[in-house]
Amino acid sequence: MKIKYRRNVALITGGSRGIGFECAKKLANEGYNLAICSRSNKELKQASNFLKKNFKIECFYMSLDASKKKNVEDFVKKVLNKFRTVDVLVNNCGVQLNKKFEKMSFQELHKVIQINLFSYIYFSKIVGNHMIKQKKGKIINISSVLSKFPLIGRLPYSIAKSGVDALTRSIALEWSKHNIICNSINPGHISTNLIKKDVKKGLISIKELKKRSITNSIGSLDDVSNFVLYLVKHGTNFQTGQSYFVDGGFSIKK
Ligand code: NDP
Repeated sequence: MKIKYRRNVALITGGSRGIGFECAKKLANEGYNLAICSRSNKELKQASNFLKKNFKIECFYMSLDASKKKNVEDFVKKVLNKFRTVDVLVNNCGVQLNKKFEKMSFQELHKVIQINLFSYIYFSKIVGNHMIKQKKGKIINISSVLSKFPLIGRLPYSIAKSGVDALTRSIALEWSKHNIICNSINPGHISTNLIKKDVKKGLISIKELKKRSITNSIGSLDDVSNFVLYLVKHGTNFQTGQSYFVDGGFSIKK
């Protein structure tokens, strides 16, 4: 008799590049089917083709703005129609704005908080309702060291990320009884588009970024994605509600 093999499924927001794409590769390597989203259809298509070709998994993608609840509802509905399950949610999509508070418009402030915090709330609630029904799930929120240790010019980003840490603790508290574990990973500076953009504009230098760590270095994609992989593979119900700083010592130097 042919045994039907159900693969685990991970949904990764902002899975098209950077930390999210690296997490997608790590989970695909473990045999996970994937659902990824971001705004750029072109990048998603490239990422999805790469994942399918190299890891022989299924990868569903949809281009959307994750800060809009309706988009999140539509996407999750499609993911569940296709895969019937989501075992792991990695809330990862994010943007950063490097601008002083007094110069920032309310519109900019709102946008940064909508993407970095509200998309996490929408995905957690909508995917979480499904996880409650299936009586298990793992939610990993990519937060930031700035959730606790702000830098000048990153006010809405820091507010959003500290909200993400609070979201993590609250979900862990409320949903532990449903066998759902939830943790944040709080990276220091990692070499991705997020910081390269500011370096290119001359707003910050690599030297300055390195100096914020005790290792005088910038973190790699592996530094973060290996931690995600650990929580997905080995995370237990006892390991929930935490914010894990992966920051080269930025947080202890402050
Ligand atoms: P990238 O800019 O490389 O990746 C960000 C991802 O989020 C992209 O896939 C992007 O795709 C997606 N995204 C951005 N806005 C939206 C939106 N409105 N709707 C849907 N998707 C969106 O940066 P990183 O990989 O560095 O960032 C990943 C996470 O890590 C973020 O939450 C960031 O805050 C966090 N982080 C990063 C650090 C770093 O130094 N790099 C340090 C600490 C935390 P698209 O633009 O096409 O929408």
